[in-house]
Amino acid sequence: MTNGLDVEMLDFTLESIGEFAHRELPDSLLIEFDERDEFPEALVRRMCGEELGVQLVFVPDEYGGMGGDAFDVYRVCERMSAIDLGLATSVLATILGSDPISVGGTPEQKRRFLSRIAEDGILMAYGATEPDAGSDLAALSTTAAPVYDNGQVVGYRLSGAKQWISNGGVAELTSILALAPGGPSWFVIDSGTDGFTHGEPEDKHGIRLSNTAALFLDEVYVDADRLIGGVEGQGLVQAQQIFGYTRLMVAAFGLGGGWAALDRAIPYSRERIQAGGPLCDKQGYTHKLIVPHAVRLEASRAAIEETAERLDAGEGPLNVEGAVAKLLASEAGDQAADAAIQAHGGYGYTHEYMVEKIKRDVRITRIYEGTSEIMEMTIARGRWQEHLKTRGDHYHAAARELESLHADHPAVGVDVAAMAHHALAELMETCRVGRLTRHQHILLRLGALIASVEGAGSLARRAARAAAGELGPKADRRLDAEELAMASRVNARDVAFTVATEAARWLAGADSGELDDLEARLGSSTIRSAQAGLLADMDALAQALCRQRQTSEPRRRMAPT
Ligand SMILES: Cc1cc2nc3c(=O)[nH]c(=O)nc-3n(C[C@H](O)[C@H](O)[C@H](O)COP(=O)(O)OP(=O)(O)OC[C@H]3O[C@@H](n4cnc5c(N)ncnc54)[C@H](O)[C@@H]3O)c2cc1C
Repeated sequence: MTNGLDVEMLDFTLESIGEFAHRELPDSLLIEFDERDEFPEALVRRMCGEELGVQLVFVPDEYGGMGGDAFDVYRVCERMSAIDLGLATSVLATILGSDPISVGGTPEQKRRFLSRIAEDGILMAYGATEPDAGSDLAALSTTAAPVYDNGQVVGYRLSGAKQWISNGGVAELTSILALAPGGPSWFVIDSGTDGFTHGEPEDKHGIRLSNTAALFLDEVYVDADRLIGGVEGQGLVQAQQIFGYTRLMVAAFGLGGGWAALDRAIPYSRERIQAGGPLCDKQGYTHKLIVPHAVRLEASRAAIEETAERLDAGEGPLNVEGAVAKLLASEAGDQAADAAIQAHGGYGYTHEYMVEKIKRDVRITRIYEGTSEIMEMTIARGRWQEHLKTRGDHYHAAARELESLHADHPAVGVDVAAMAHHALAELMETCRVGRLTRHQHILLRLGALIASVEGAGSLARRAARAAAGELGPKADRRLDAEELAMASRVNARDVAFTVATEAARWLAGADSGELDDLEARLGSSTIRSAQAGLLADMDALAQALCRQRQTSEPRRRMAPT
């Protein structure tokens, strides 16, 4: 159980980040850094130093930090990534680098290293990935050979290479995953240690304001007290323990990046006149380029907030839930940013407009901290176990819970979200009977559908809580209760329809031979009937979104009228 910041402190922190960005990080400067492919080290150090102290949110109070909980971390990560995802990544890298210490370090290691992040504002890096070991970390080949004195292990010599390490060229301290005789283990290494070098900064597609570099270890000696936790072989377990939390942070990045793009597209759509009226009045524009993206982003927010609340309540690592949140938010953020370019027409395709940079930046959230495909696999495998354990009732049970909410909240889309859950349960059972998950493609498609269905459930529950005035005090309030209800109804219809149609497609595609009463089992005709009212909800949501006040993209060039 974590207490976290109180609401006033969280609001103050978010405001301070906003003010710092307003003062120091105008769009024009961010675009300049991006064009020069420059890591603005001085700015990052000011953000992580006395001036802003953003890193304090992530450090427990006993080590000099503010002791933010997972919910605080999500809100701060969303806010930072809406400003610049490269800068946010640099802060994230310090937190990632310290995470093995936070979960597995000895009390002495925590005091020694975490307090340096809080007090000295040092930057850290997290060195897990290798040239030949990315998604499959178990294939790592960096070694840690014990050094003995009088039969005692007094230190280790690390040799190998790490790839794509954020802050790799600038961090004072780096956590390195290496293979010791007892198995994969984390070590903490100071920059400047003999034999420890880094490559040139990578020339990246996006997040060009972050430093990413390869690391090289040539017989780097560290004392035995640099082995995190003091016991070999705990490295992968320690990495697993924090995935729920770290993937939530990257999910918040996808959410922040996606909304930052829409927050530019929406005001543009109000100002840009085409065919005699503003673009925001045109259904073909809003219902393709704005509304579905806002809806998906809010579904991902609902999944993030639920996962954060459960993490803070001490419900274990929640790796599958973290993966659901990350998959939903990173995919939604990427699609929203792409739509925002389209929404700006030719202007959006130029470096002068932030949406072009945001699109390149947010793309990374589908790759780092586990790719979307690895998320799909994690989700599908995790929930497949639940399906088997409950003899196929896992998602039927979740649907029944949603249905029980419907009586009190008939207008928030819980009934349609329940239909999606029932259809998913039937799809999974048909896959079990036909042994279809032996096809990896079907397994991963299931992972993606599971994430969408769980997101629909989360958004429907969030809309119900908002309608009852029961959202937590730290919850985001971008959309009001009525707007959340509309978003939930649009999303639930979309997800239920997708499950029904994708199920039919892949079951037929795998020649499953289980198709006789498939439509009836999936509830396809009820799901089709539930689409009634979709356009009216999209119309109302488009109007509501276009009414909202957003930070407008400064017009750099006069648009031809
Ligand atoms: C800008 C940037 C910053 C990064 N920062 C860090 C950092 O600070 N620390 C760190 O340790 N790492 C970092 N990474 C590494 C990142 O986490 C990895 O790139 C990512 O996990 C994918 O690994 P990979 O690049 O080796 O791709 P691979 O694992 O080779 O994957 C390539 C493709 O194959 C797919 N794939 C892989 N395995 C399977 C499978 N079994 N079935 C189906 N499909 C599969 C993947 O989804 C992907 O599409 C960073 C990467 C980038 C680009």
